[in-house]
Amino acid sequence: MATQETVEHKYVYAFAEGNKDLKELLGGKGANLAEMTNLGLPVPPGFTITTEACKAYLATGEEPDGLAGQIAAHLASLEQAMGKRLGDPEDPLLVSVRSGAKFSMPGMMETVLNVGLNDRSVQGLARQAGGADQQATGGADRFAWDSYRRLIQMFGKTVCEVPGEEFEHALDDAKRAKGTGNDLDLDADDLRGLVDAYKKIFFKHTGREFPQEPREQLDLAIRAVFESWNAERAVLYRRQERIPADLGTAVNVVAMVFGNLGPDSGTGVAFTRDPASGAQGIYGDYLANAQGEDVVAGIRNTVPLQELERLDKKSYDELLGIMARLEGHYKDLCDIEFTIERGKLWMLQTRVGKRTAAAAFVIAGQLVDEGLIDLDEALHRVNGAQLAQLMFPRFRLDHEFQPVAKGIGASPGAASGKVVFTSARAVELAAEGESVILVRRETNPDDLNGMIAAQGILTSRGGKTSHAAVVARGMGKTCVSGADEIDVNVPQRRFVVGGQTVVEGDIVSIDGTTGKVYLGEVPVMPSEVVQYFEGSLDPEHVDNALVRAVHRIMSHADARRRLAVRTNADTGADAARARRFGAEGIGLCRTEHMFLGDRRELVERLILARDNAEREAALAALLPLQRADFEEIFREMDGMPVTVRLIDPPLHEFLPPLEQLAVNVAVAQERGEDVAQEEALLAAVRRMHEENPMLGLRGVRLGLVIPGLFAMQVRAIAEAAVTVTRSGAVARPEIMVPLVGAVQELETVRAEAEKIIAEVVGDSGVEVLIGTMIEVPRAALTAGQIAEAAQFFSFGTNDLTQMGWGFSRDDVEGAFFWRYLELGIFGISPFESIDRDGVGRLVRIAAEEGRAARPELKLGVCGEHGGDPESVHFFHEVGLDYVSCSPFRVPVARLEAGRAAVQTDGSDSR
Ligand code: PEP
Ligand code: MG
Repeated sequence: MATQETVEHKYVYAFAEGNKDLKELLGGKGANLAEMTNLGLPVPPGFTITTEACKAYLATGEEPDGLAGQIAAHLASLEQAMGKRLGDPEDPLLVSVRSGAKFSMPGMMETVLNVGLNDRSVQGLARQAGGADQQATGGADRFAWDSYRRLIQMFGKTVCEVPGEEFEHALDDAKRAKGTGNDLDLDADDLRGLVDAYKKIFFKHTGREFPQEPREQLDLAIRAVFESWNAERAVLYRRQERIPADLGTAVNVVAMVFGNLGPDSGTGVAFTRDPASGAQGIYGDYLANAQGEDVVAGIRNTVPLQELERLDKKSYDELLGIMARLEGHYKDLCDIEFTIERGKLWMLQTRVGKRTAAAAFVIAGQLVDEGLIDLDEALHRVNGAQLAQLMFPRFRLDHEFQPVAKGIGASPGAASGKVVFTSARAVELAAEGESVILVRRETNPDDLNGMIAAQGILTSRGGKTSHAAVVARGMGKTCVSGADEIDVNVPQRRFVVGGQTVVEGDIVSIDGTTGKVYLGEVPVMPSEVVQYFEGSLDPEHVDNALVRAVHRIMSHADARRRLAVRTNADTGADAARARRFGAEGIGLCRTEHMFLGDRRELVERLILARDNAEREAALAALLPLQRADFEEIFREMDGMPVTVRLIDPPLHEFLPPLEQLAVNVAVAQERGEDVAQEEALLAAVRRMHEENPMLGLRGVRLGLVIPGLFAMQVRAIAEAAVTVTRSGAVARPEIMVPLVGAVQELETVRAEAEKIIAEVVGDSGVEVLIGTMIEVPRAALTAGQIAEAAQFFSFGTNDLTQMGWGFSRDDVEGAFFWRYLELGIFGISPFESIDRDGVGRLVRIAAEEGRAARPELKLGVCGEHGGDPESVHFFHEVGLDYVSCSPFRVPVARLEAGRAAVQTDGSDSR
């Protein structure tokens, strides 16, 4: 006999062996089934095959060594626990085979139910389901054959890639032959006939008979679940939700329980609080005499869970008890799936439930009140993306707008757009820049592309837990589901509501909070959260649970965060708004934005000046304008630092377009007009023309080439600061030099600036700092030298990304990033979220070497990444002093900076 020399890798866990913290290995569903089993809740027995087994299978195309044996052993225990054998002709054990990844991916991967049924065991199932009750035998036969046809259908489609519509057509044919439109009118004989038809379809597409051997069914179903990890829709969903591609899915093999055994059976989904608003209570949907997938798929309309109290009080009370227990145990909103089989309650799933952004804040606040979590934990329970969502506007409604239908507010927000009926059309129109509302009877996972492209989703069927609702909430998309007054006709691309016909391209507006649907475009109003940030809603006095929760959590984030948050603003109005949003200074005032409109011509004159006199005249005209700009900003930011960046336009933005000018001159010459001046202009523009303006004469280079330009700006800044300070406010200017790559560039600018500052400031008490942007890779790599001449660094991560990757920032995202995302070269554009490994490394090196050379060096970031949640965490880790972002992102950055400060265990609040 061979002895086992090495310890075999464990790929299969009985539910009793797992727990909720093993999500990485057992997937969310498996880990939570284990947790519920260990809590003693009524979970059907089963086992979980690990994500490691899936990864091994996906890597090699074969089940790893030892897996088959471990499955056999666990199956034997399961059979023993149930007192039945898989596929036994007399009294068969049936199992479900379900996917379950670390992060929930609703409907994206495969499930096969009723595994173990074959031509013989279907008879046994009918006998067992009928029991002693003769009257039920007809129903039991029907139930058994219906279960068998569902197995062939699901197995055929998922495991063997038989086109699903062939089964649908055969089902339609059977109903037509019977003269009915309802599945429930098909009797046992009809379904037996349907099983034959399904088997023929199966044979036609696979060249083999439907497998009769239960273990073979099981093994093939497990394989199909493994493979569904890489199905197109799953890949797309992961990319959208930023779920890593290499986690794999676990597979749960669970003894089947049946919700479709008659009126005393049923199935449902429930939440321990309202996942839309966060309100306390029991929320859910129940469907009597149905199998689990029917609820989630939104195929039949459900009843509110409270109805169950009337239908089956014992199960209802037991369910409520379990729900309270789960909430206390998980210390969070739980969502559950359950089945009642002939009056016996079974828990099929639980997890910490997805929720809307508003509910996330409200629930976190409630849980603190209830003493279940502390405020640090509350910060884990929300995130910046949710806060950003709450800052979206809502509809402004007056009597003019009457809803034409009301469905369920499945995912909040306000969306208007052109009606489309197919995913493909949604994608097409969105690519042309149109806002679209995807209208369907119900969505299914194949609609994912269209849902991503659409502004909002409207369905005529399905509840809060339908596919459309769950997926839309996860994406933060506005969704109204179950608007059943709407009669949707997809082939004709129209819907009818209240006698009116709406065709593709008409505009509708949907409110995902109230569930109301309007014809035409409804104007929008700001969110309450924005009103709170603006100071027009006082959280102490307003009766609004959301505003109070946001206030409380934001206050805690502010108390905990180490990073300061500044804003990018170059007008007084933006500065004022950002300050109300909590900005603690300006991190980037882009002065080139002050030269647009009327002033453009002055800059053009300056750049093209033929002699000193022309140049000085242009500068003299600019100086008072600039001084007034800065005075306004310093006044708004009284007492706070204001980083003013010296001018940094790519040159072409200020020059007339070369081709246009050349054509004008040629036409004028042709007409014999006097074009001496235009010719001189054309010659100058030709001289200055650049092939790569973003790598050309901009930033510090421009300042060094055009005498007096930076000097004028420095003078305007210093004079404005003195004026404001003399008027009783406090101006704290920080002059920032852009695009520095070598310390010598900075030293040259600095020497001139210091002279002017000393001259202007005198004894006014104004202090002006001089620093630089770090946005050229060479600057990052020579930060130690540059720090000798800089009092602060601000990372310009836009240019640092552009030059670090060699990606033209104005072109690449639209041109080819789709392919890079598809190939997984990166999961998100590096212009959106900092590339930690590459560009982030440059930041890290510069921060370390800069501080080593000058310990008091102030460090910040003012590229777009300063307001990106993920990136804020990175800047916290690197030890920057502040992030700076656009005014609207200031609250998001404050929240994320707070979360970064308490997030020491790397946990994920997804
Ligand atoms: C940057 O490059 O990150 C930056 C803030 O400067 P700009 O976007 O103006 O080039
Ligand atoms: Mg830049």
